[in-house]
Parts: sequence; C-alpha cells; structure tokens
Amino acid sequence: MGLPRLILLAIVIGGGIWLWRRFNSRKITPTQSMQSQSMVRCAHCHVHLPQNRAIQKNQQWYCSVEHLQHGPQTGD
Ligand SMILES: [Zn+2]
Repeated sequence: MGLPRLILLAIVIGGGIWLWRRFNSRKITPTQSMQSQSMVRCAHCHVHLPQNRAIQKNQQWYCSVEHLQHGPQTGD
C-alpha cells in the first residue's frame, strides 16, 4: 500500500517541479521586453525618456503634451 502512494507522490512532485520551471522560464519574457525598450529624446527639451512614456508626433518624440504643443526646438 505504501509503494504505489510513494510513486504517485514522486509523479506529483516531479510534475510540480516541471510546472514551476515552466512558469519561471515564462517570467523572463517581461524582462526581455523591458530590455528591448528603447530610450527616446524629447524634440523640444532634448531630455531622454523611455519610449512608452514619450508622446510621438510627426516622427518626433516629446516628454510631455506641453512640449508637443511647443514643437521641436532646433536652437535658432
Ligand atoms: Zn521635453
């Protein structure tokens, strides 16, 4: 009676470890997307910020709506 239960327990633990490893390997994906996130420069004040926080207009990036309204600063 003891041995079949032990084998069943081993299968359950083995399956649990397999699932845990699979879950952990999936956790890497968000980290990779964070690393691929590129920095962009505000066309107005030239400050660098992550692309997901920047606002794009006419292939130019801006740090805020205010700077988007001001437009690109070329420096006279
Ligand atoms: Zn700016």
